[in-house]
Amino acid sequence: MVDRYFSDEPISADHVTLAGPEAHHLIHVMRAAPGMQVTLFDGGGDEFTATIVRVGRSDVELSILARERVNRELPLDLTLGVALPKGDRQKWLVEKAVELGVARIVPLRTRRGVAQPVEQVLARLRRAVIEASKQCGRNRLLRIDSPQSWPDFVTGAAGAACRLLAHPGGETASAIVLPAHSLPSGCKGEPILCKMVFLAVGPEGGFDDEEVALAVAASWRPVDLGPRILRVETAAILLTAITAWQVSSVW
Ligand code: SAH
Repeated sequence: MVDRYFSDEPISADHVTLAGPEAHHLIHVMRAAPGMQVTLFDGGGDEFTATIVRVGRSDVELSILARERVNRELPLDLTLGVALPKGDRQKWLVEKAVELGVARIVPLRTRRGVAQPVEQVLARLRRAVIEASKQCGRNRLLRIDSPQSWPDFVTGAAGAACRLLAHPGGETASAIVLPAHSLPSGCKGEPILCKMVFLAVGPEGGFDDEEVALAVAASWRPVDLGPRILRVETAAILLTAITAWQVSSVW
C-alpha cells in the first residue's frame, strides 16, 4: 500500500492543504517535494490520488488527481462496548479494532471497572485510529464515543440485530451463529446498509450478576471465550474476530 495521509477537512475541491501531524510526517520524515504522489483519505469512504504542489514550513499543499470510492469496511455495523484497560493496552485494543473493522467503540462505565478515559485521552485514542487506518487501508474512521454507563449502553442496543456479551460461563463461542437476519444481504460493506451488531466486554473485575441479568433481560447473549481468563483487550479482539469471521463469505 502506498503512503496514505489523512485530511481532517473533508476533501471537496481539487486542492487540499495538510497541516498538523500529517504535514509534519510528510515534510520531516518523507522529505516531501513538489511532484511527489501520495494517497489521501478523509474518512468519508473515498481514496484520493494527489500530487504535492507546495511544501511550506508546517503545511503541504496538494492537488487532487483522482477520487475513487474504495470500500474496505466489514459488512457489519459493529459496535464494541468495552470497559477500557489502562495505558498502552487501550491503544493496542483500539488499533486492533480498527484493523478488524469495528465501526464504533464505546468505553463502558461498569461497577467493577476503572475510570474511563477523559476527553484528552480519547483524543489520543482517536489519533491512534487515524494511524491504524493509514496503515491498514480503511477509508472510514472507527468512531470512539464518550463513555456510557452499562445500563445506557444496553438500552442503546435495542435496535441491533444481535447483541453478545463476553462472560465466563455463557454459551460456547462455537454456538455463536449470528441470526440470519443480522447478516447483510448482498451488500458488500457499506456500513450504512449493514446490520447493527453490538458486542460488550467487561472490566478486569468482570461484569457483576446484576449487570449480566440486565443485559440478558434485554436479549443479550452471554458468550464464553474458553477456560482461561483473558485480559479485557484479548477478550475484545477475540469476540470481534469470532463475529467478523461469520461474515467472511462476503467480506
Ligand atoms: N474476574 C472476572 C474476569 C474478568 S476478565 C471474572 O472472573 O468474571 C475481563 C472481561 O473479559 C470479562 O468481563 C469478560 O467480558 C471478558 N472475558 C475474559 N475472559 C473471558 C472468558 N474466558 N470468557 C468470556 N469472557 C471473558
